[in-house]
Amino acid sequence: PADVDYLKGLLRSYPDYPKKGIVFLDIFPLLRNPVAFETLITHFVHRLTSHTIASSPSKKIDVVVGLDARGFLIGPIIAMRLGAAFVPVRKRGKLPGETISAEYQKEYGLDVFEMQADAIAKGQNVVIIDDLIATGGSAKAAGELVAKLGGNTLEYLFIIELTFLQAASKLDAPMYSIVKVD
Ligand code: 5GP
Repeated sequence: PADVDYLKGLLRSYPDYPKKGIVFLDIFPLLRNPVAFETLITHFVHRLTSHTIASSPSKKIDVVVGLDARGFLIGPIIAMRLGAAFVPVRKRGKLPGETISAEYQKEYGLDVFEMQADAIAKGQNVVIIDDLIATGGSAKAAGELVAKLGGNTLEYLFIIELTFLQAASKLDAPMYSIVKVD
């Protein structure tokens, strides 16, 4: 589709960032361009409102969960368009009050994600959003936090998916990505 090609064309790749051998895909050119940003948000909102979310045709989305940190740049806007709550998943030690946590594997060692314990009520319908899915470790940890609170994850959404890493098989709900990179 034209919007996907348009967005894909604006992504920039940086070889050897943040270290040698890694090609980093930068989404910020999309946010820098107001038409592209609007196109991006509209694409996600259309996905979540107009047609079947894979397994769950007519369910209302109660909560949009965004991952630290680039999920915070798109998640709240999508949540407001849907009339849903926005809930952040943050790196350890950043959230006040009672929190729950889940570990995930980074390239070197474990990292910890947290969510406020009262952020999601049992039975609420949730979608989980981030800019990019690579191994899927961080998305899986976010899904575990939602599940611990009794939330029902309907779908995981990303701007970019690195298809060769086959992250979808790790997740407990369907995955949708706008741009596939192999
Ligand atoms: P995963 O846990 O799936 O292996 O890694 C995904 C996380 O790493 C996401 O939070 C994402 O923001 C970040 N990430 C990894 N590689 C890239 C990249 O090339 N571009 C961007 N924008 N984020 C990346």
